[in-house]
Amino acid sequence: MSDTFFHPVSGFDLPRFAGVATFMRLPHVPLEDPRIKDVAIGLIGAPWDGGTTNRPGPRHGPRQLRDLSTMIRAGNGATGVRPFELVNCADLGDVAPNPADLMDSLNRMSDFYTRVKQAGIVPLTAGGDHLCSLPILRGLASDAPVGMIHFDSHTDLFDSYFNGSRFTHGTPFRRAIEEGLLDPKRVVQIGIRGTSYDTEDKDFAHSVGVRLITIEEFFARGIEDVMAEAREIVGQAPTYVTYDIDFVDPAFAPGTGTPEVGGPNSFQALQVVRELAGVNVIGADLVEVSPPFDASGGTAWLGISIMFELLCIMATAVSNRRGV
Ligand code: MN
Ligand code: MN
Repeated sequence: MSDTFFHPVSGFDLPRFAGVATFMRLPHVPLEDPRIKDVAIGLIGAPWDGGTTNRPGPRHGPRQLRDLSTMIRAGNGATGVRPFELVNCADLGDVAPNPADLMDSLNRMSDFYTRVKQAGIVPLTAGGDHLCSLPILRGLASDAPVGMIHFDSHTDLFDSYFNGSRFTHGTPFRRAIEEGLLDPKRVVQIGIRGTSYDTEDKDFAHSVGVRLITIEEFFARGIEDVMAEAREIVGQAPTYVTYDIDFVDPAFAPGTGTPEVGGPNSFQALQVVRELAGVNVIGADLVEVSPPFDASGGTAWLGISIMFELLCIMATAVSNRRGV
């Protein structure tokens, strides 16, 4: 059971539109706070989109996601999980990037996640663009490569952009495999679709053993069958979960920089996360929500709803690990 200090403020005690917005109305506990030793899962903002190659904006994601997260209540209506009662969760605040320097931002972020890991905290991050996942993995997987379940329209496995720039939101997982942070044979990418210039990313995936599931295969086989395969690929070893909001059809998630039509609806977007039950999750992120393209706020609302589903899976996984 979790310490009541870490329970979210109830909408019956303070209206949900009132107060300073933290992720899911949890207490704000920075890494320097003595109470950090009691935190099991840390919700973290990564307000950085320095890897974006086309339409920017996800640097504004964490603030918008925090605002919409005040709509989240205590229990999961579909699965019955009540994450805040399982383990202590807190809002650790934002990792501070340097918007004028890409390499410095990567270093600041990997230093931050190294400290998160050293504190024994499992991070759930709100991006930010997808390059944010690379410094997170550098912090979490420096000892040994991890597996990964990746929801996205895109593989993000390209080698470089614009004459050799190797760090963009289209390259993070190529770098993570090269750096030994990911075991490519325990990586599965789900939802791949859209137009492309070439097949360099997919050729690389096949050459190293990354399992790539296109949206056509996803819909032909169905969610349960595809997710059973994903669970088998990662097995019981440590696994990271990364969720690009552009996995979802732009009818439901238009507020993102690189939308691709013909994707899952908002119900299916939640269902795939519920199918992660039993996976040994050591961290997760939700990236590429771009408030400047999210006129209704609906993309951020779906984004934080996906984060709540991820949190339910993570809280169950953490509490099971502690129970052993
Ligand atoms: Mn992506
Ligand atoms: Mn994408």
